[in-house]
Amino acid sequence: MQARNHIPFAMSWWWLYCLGTDQSIEAVGTMAAAMGGLLPDIDHPKSALGRRIPFISIPLSYLVGHRGVTHSLMAVVVMLIMLPLAAFTMDTRIALLVAPVCLGYLSHITGDAMTPSGVPLLWPNRKRYTLNLFKTTSLLESVFVGVFTISVVILGGIAPSVMHNTIAQIPFMAGR
Ligand SMILES: [Zn+2]
Repeated sequence: MQARNHIPFAMSWWWLYCLGTDQSIEAVGTMAAAMGGLLPDIDHPKSALGRRIPFISIPLSYLVGHRGVTHSLMAVVVMLIMLPLAAFTMDTRIALLVAPVCLGYLSHITGDAMTPSGVPLLWPNRKRYTLNLFKTTSLLESVFVGVFTISVVILGGIAPSVMHNTIAQIPFMAGR
């Protein structure tokens, strides 16, 4: 998946998480999710992120290659451990950034898994797993991300009013 699609895809995952956990959606979290959505491609010197930090991306790409450990279950496990840890310490400023970065990161691996090149989930085993839904840079990729993002934005507009109306229909909650 291209960086320009990873960004809205990652932001949408964060917005869904915010909707699901009844958190307000803020710019900082959204930016952190977008950053997390670019993070796995730190192993590619020509990626949007890799170009900005060549002192990391060049040696990393030499050592593990593109779509290596950063796109594997090992990275997912690290993210899944960090996520609840962040939730427990949700009042600290850094913890507030961990959840969106993790979700953005997970969205990246999922996004890349949708392309024919796939991701090496069981790294260091090099076998790649793919859902093979669309090619990277294809129109279908952009359409998929566009529809997904717009759906989340619409849901974000509808969900609070549905919730409000549902609460209003509960007799003892009415009049609040
Ligand atoms: Zn990638």
